[in-house]
Amino acid sequence: MNATDKLNFLISDKNLAAELRNIAEKVLREERITFEEGVLLYEKGELGYLGVLANYIREKRHGDRTFFNRNFHIEPTNVCVYDCKFCSYSRLIKQRAEGWEMDVDGMMDIVKKYDHEPVTEVHITGGVVPKQNLEFYADFFRRCKAHRPELHIKGLTPVEYYYIFKKAKLSHYEGLKYLQSCGLDSMPGGGAEIFHPEIREQIAHDKCTAEQWLDIHEQAHRLGMHTNATMLYGHIEQFWHRVDHMERLRQLQDKTGGFQTFIPLKFRNKENQMSHIPEVSVVEDLRNYAIARIYMDNFDHIKAYWAMISRDTAQLSLAFGVDDIDGTLDDTTKIYSMAGAEEQKPGMTTQEVVELIKNVGRHPIERDTLYNVVTDYQDYIFDNSPQKKSYYALPVVNP
Ligand code: SF4
Repeated sequence: MNATDKLNFLISDKNLAAELRNIAEKVLREERITFEEGVLLYEKGELGYLGVLANYIREKRHGDRTFFNRNFHIEPTNVCVYDCKFCSYSRLIKQRAEGWEMDVDGMMDIVKKYDHEPVTEVHITGGVVPKQNLEFYADFFRRCKAHRPELHIKGLTPVEYYYIFKKAKLSHYEGLKYLQSCGLDSMPGGGAEIFHPEIREQIAHDKCTAEQWLDIHEQAHRLGMHTNATMLYGHIEQFWHRVDHMERLRQLQDKTGGFQTFIPLKFRNKENQMSHIPEVSVVEDLRNYAIARIYMDNFDHIKAYWAMISRDTAQLSLAFGVDDIDGTLDDTTKIYSMAGAEEQKPGMTTQEVVELIKNVGRHPIERDTLYNVVTDYQDYIFDNSPQKKSYYALPVVNP
C-alpha cells in the first residue's frame, strides 16, 4: 500500500472518530487544519493515525528523499548573560572561568581546520557575552568569507542579535543588513523555545520575547535571507502552547515565505534548573513530529537532529513527517551532549548517514543550506559498502 492508499484506508475505517476523520480528509484535500484541530491531534491522535497523515504529506512533498548536510559548528562561547532554566550548556557570567570564550582568531582556526573537507556550511551559535558584539561578528564574517567565499555562514539567533543590535543602537533591519554585507548568509532557528508568555516567562524570562524573535526573522526574510525555526517541547508547556507556537510561525511564514525548516527540539533534563521534570517518551517525540508536519503546511521541511534524539529515533522519525536529519557533525558541538543527549560524541561519517537513511528505505540526498542537491546518494557505492544492505519498511503506518 502506498501512502495515499493508507490514508484512504484510514478514512474508510468506521471506528475512526468523526473529528479525526475530518482532519484526515482535510489532509487528503491539502487543506489547512485549524488551531483547535491542532490541539485535538495532540489530545486524541494516536501514533499510527498521525503517522499515516504525516507520512502522506511527507511523501507528497518529498517522496522518499531525505536530506542531510555536511557542516561544522562554531560555538564562540558558552558563557551567557541570560539564565534560561532549561539550559545545560551555558555558564553564567559569574561562573565564566568554567566556560570558554573564543576570539576571532580562534574561530578562524576552526574554519581553517576544514579547509580540505567538503563541508558547505558553518553553523554558529552559543551564549551571549558583551565583548562578542556587532564588530566582533562583522570581523569574523568578513574574514571567514575572505578565506572561503563559498562556505555558507548560518549564524546566530535572535537571542544574540537582539542583544547585539540593542547595544549597537541599530534596528533589527539595520543590524542584519550590516552583517549581511559582511558575509552573513542565513539564520538558524534557535532561541524560539515556547513563544507564549505564560511559559516563556517561566523558562526564559530575560531573553528576547516572542515578538522580538519573530521580528528579527521577518527582517531577515525582508533582506532575502532564509531562516529556520525551532520549538522546545516536552517540559512545562501544555499541548495548546505548542499549537500557539506553531500558529505564530505559520502566520509569519504566510507573510514572508522565508522559513525553510521547522525543527522540534526535545527538552532534555540533564544538569539544568528543570532537571526535576521528566523527559517525554519516544512515542511523544514521534507524535510531535507528525503533528508538526500536519500543522506546518507552509513549511517545506521538518527536521530531526539525530544527535539530540539518537540515530534510532531519527530513523523512526522519517516515517512521521521528518525529511531532514541535519548534518554529519563532529566533535565541534557540545550543545547536544551537555544537554544530556544520547549521543555524547556526536559524529557520523557521510557513509554512516547515508546508510542510516537507506536502512529504513529512504533516499539520501546531501543538500546545501538552501536545499540545493549537492550529491544524490541513492545509487552511490562507497568503496567499503557492505555487500547486502539490511532493508525493511517501517511497520507503523497500517491503521
Ligand atoms: S539557552 Fe541560550 S540564551 Fe539561554 S542561557 Fe543558554 S546559551 Fe544563554
